[in-house]
Amino acid sequence: MRDLNALIEECLKFRHVYVYGDGEVGRLMRVYLHEHRLEISGFLTTYKPKKNRIMDVPVYELESLNSNLTDTLILICMHKKYWEKAIEYIKKLGYINYIIIDDTLRISAEEATLFDHLYEDVEQKINVLLFHRVENLETSFSIIVNEKNFEDQLKYICSRYKVLRCDEDWSNVDRKSVALTFDDGYIDFYTKAYPLLKKYNVPATVFISTGGIDNNKEFWWDELEHILNQNRLPNTIKTKRKEFYVNNFKNRSELINDVREEIINNTFCIRDEEIDSLKNQVNPYLKSRPKYRTMNTKEISCLSMDPLITIGAHTVNHILCDFENYNVQREEIKNSKIMLENIIDKEVNLFAYPNGNIGKDTRSILKDLGFVRSFTCEHASIEYDEHVFDIPRSAVLNWDYSQLEQRFRGIWQTGKNI
Ligand SMILES: [Zn+2]
Repeated sequence: MRDLNALIEECLKFRHVYVYGDGEVGRLMRVYLHEHRLEISGFLTTYKPKKNRIMDVPVYELESLNSNLTDTLILICMHKKYWEKAIEYIKKLGYINYIIIDDTLRISAEEATLFDHLYEDVEQKINVLLFHRVENLETSFSIIVNEKNFEDQLKYICSRYKVLRCDEDWSNVDRKSVALTFDDGYIDFYTKAYPLLKKYNVPATVFISTGGIDNNKEFWWDELEHILNQNRLPNTIKTKRKEFYVNNFKNRSELINDVREEIINNTFCIRDEEIDSLKNQVNPYLKSRPKYRTMNTKEISCLSMDPLITIGAHTVNHILCDFENYNVQREEIKNSKIMLENIIDKEVNLFAYPNGNIGKDTRSILKDLGFVRSFTCEHASIEYDEHVFDIPRSAVLNWDYSQLEQRFRGIWQTGKNI
């Protein structure tokens, strides 16, 4: 689909337009289309929906939808890792008309949506915000917020919302509140984010992957970027399943993103083998990069003495839980918890799923190991009743003050009830 105008034109050809996916993207599209005078017939979900209605329209389980096959258009509004399955499922049920809302359409819709009307009656009271890094760095990732923007974001947040701690009781929250979380445990949490959190007296939780503590090991995605940003690359880069022709890419960021997408969905052993193999192919000169390390024992221990900061676990090797077996998950989660508890001399009972990926037994492992809350990365539908182990989060990107206001309205309007 070329752009939003083409999307609307296409939607107008059908009697029924459904949004498949009731997460952030789906809700955004509902608002966007409504603002352009196009009412959808409902949301579709893969599993039995928890609510009969969301944002004023009905919700149906796709399988039980009884709609005219040729007169129905389905907008696929979910993370790209689910696209293939979603299309397969749609086709299996006989629907032939569908459009994927990809990143380009989503971003244009975000920019074109005012979030100005319709949903005055905000359902949720708490929004958990997800940050990764606060640093002044140019990279191919959008998850790094620069210091100036971060300070503006904090000022904005403090002036409008109550800021909760992730380890406090949320049952009696009576006004719009946010909680701040930071994933991975990069050194810049200590050097850049923490001083500003202190300045504005804002509590935050940092989820640390322990594999990089007290060594200079970088996270695999940073190492990948470092390897593929070398001046000289061979003509082709090979992974286990694919070959990438370097000259076919417009720039290095595209190459890096594609290779990352190719190797991310693996067990951490295979992922590390892929990184080693890339090193062998590129033979890179990898200089040490102090800004890419994880916080060390001393820094973590110092943070934990400040009542503003809560430390949470994030596995040892930043594993994708749904790609690992029960034993690996358990060891990874347990060992990260134990290591952090030894450093801070306090119990660690909060967890963030690396990359938001959850295996079918991850929640029971967490419960078993004494965790009380765990946080996802995206607004995926909740399949289980255990909401405390599925707390969604809204990512905050490198937005300046003027972008922030609109984005925040979006977060409240389209975010999930928790
Ligand atoms: Zn992470």
